Amino acid sequence: MNYFPMFADLRGRPVLVVGGGTVAERKTQSLLDAGAKVLLAARELTENLQTWAEEGRICRIAESFSDGLIRQAVLVIAATDDEELNRRVADAAERGNKLVNVVDRQELCSFIVPAVIDRSPVQIAVSSGGTSPVLARRLRLQIEQLVPQHIGLMAQIAGENRESVKRQFGSLPERRQFWEQLFAGRFQDYCTQNNRPQADLQLKAELAAKQTQQGFVTLVGAGPGDAGLLTIHALQAMQAADVVLYDALVSTDILRLIRKDAEKINVGKRAGGHKVRQEETNALLLEYAQKGCRVVRLKGGDPFVFGRGGEELQILAEAGIPFKIIPGITAAVGAAAYAGIPLTHRDYAQSVQFITGQCKADGSDVDWASFARSNQTLAVYMGTIKAENIAARLIRHGRAADTPCAVISNGTRQNQTVVTGVLSDLPYLTANGRHTCNLQCLTVNAATPALIVIGEVAALHHRLAWFQSENTAVAKAA
Ligand code: SAH
Repeated sequence: MNYFPMFADLRGRPVLVVGGGTVAERKTQSLLDAGAKVLLAARELTENLQTWAEEGRICRIAESFSDGLIRQAVLVIAATDDEELNRRVADAAERGNKLVNVVDRQELCSFIVPAVIDRSPVQIAVSSGGTSPVLARRLRLQIEQLVPQHIGLMAQIAGENRESVKRQFGSLPERRQFWEQLFAGRFQDYCTQNNRPQADLQLKAELAAKQTQQGFVTLVGAGPGDAGLLTIHALQAMQAADVVLYDALVSTDILRLIRKDAEKINVGKRAGGHKVRQEETNALLLEYAQKGCRVVRLKGGDPFVFGRGGEELQILAEAGIPFKIIPGITAAVGAAAYAGIPLTHRDYAQSVQFITGQCKADGSDVDWASFARSNQTLAVYMGTIKAENIAARLIRHGRAADTPCAVISNGTRQNQTVVTGVLSDLPYLTANGRHTCNLQCLTVNAATPALIVIGEVAALHHRLAWFQSENTAVAKAA
């Protein structure tokens, strides 16, 4: 960290601005907005600076800069177009132990000014540490779009009621729960509508009810791995959670986005060689929700696609625990997109089926004839181990042995690999077949998680691949 971030209270404090041009005017304007007492040293002033000086809003203390002026200020800003003068100001400030900013000369600055998203009293400051103000401004624009306008009103009302909430709720977790519940409910709607009277009433009502919060579970789909594919709802839920129960499929990039002090429980990892059993996960969900926590159940992909999300919610419903569901991008959709494989295509596939490879050994629970129909794409989840079986049955039920297929491992992640071939070679592609691999160029095992795509569309990977993963150079079979 090259710079120490801070917000300075400049109300009534003297700040020396050297220079009287448009840049100095801009700096003076933001200093005045923050309530600073601006002392100006400049020979010529812009029209606005002249007016402000005449109105007494700023104080022109000198026409030219001299070292002694530094003593009068807590901060110094040099905004002249005279390089030599700017350097003199910086040197004098340095000698006088005052923080100084020289506009556009980072090497002369002891403090720099961030790009700001202003939702007063909420302010978000963005800095690239002086390396690229343009980048910082771009980021600011993106954040501007994300941070709702009404957040300032929410913060203002919260500030005014902070003490009464403190009196009512003795412990920090209780207070946090109160605020989080308030900010997520109707209070927020009223603030969005800029309806201050109703927002005040809502806060009072919720405070009066003095309800200890009921637990709540949010079932969140984390998508296939690339953190950029999370939904805004998912991110917000992860940021508001007390406890997060997550699966092995959830990528580390995504886990990093969970609120720092939330309890994170890995229910997918093998503990002592054993995966946490589904019943144990269900029991944990119930336990935390019944304690009054905001629980996030974070699952790879979409919770309702081969995710057992339904089963977990049934348990919660039976116990009367409220919940909501935030869908995620399922592996087939995400991985196929990042592999450049359109799941449907007017020329090749009029439908797509999402199927699981975890069927009974004799295949009796599956309608293979329907899966083997041509002009459709099969996206096979959890299929690598049974690849040989799947390929054999599809071919036996009529799917052409030379149907293109692809195995996408770690789809959407930096280590994504795509191996393509034909259906009869599927066991080789997943490298799980009992046969010896005789395809010269096939050097990689399909790492997991891996998705198998079967259908003519898989061949389009060669033309439409676009995602530059670390493993782009991987050999392709067939
Ligand atoms: N609910 C998840 C699927 C869980 S089943 C979803 O909607 O995506 C687990 C299977 O999903 C894995 O065996 C694999 O086939 C597939 N899968 C999950 N993430 C994947 C990824 N990043 N790349 C490829 N396949 C993935």
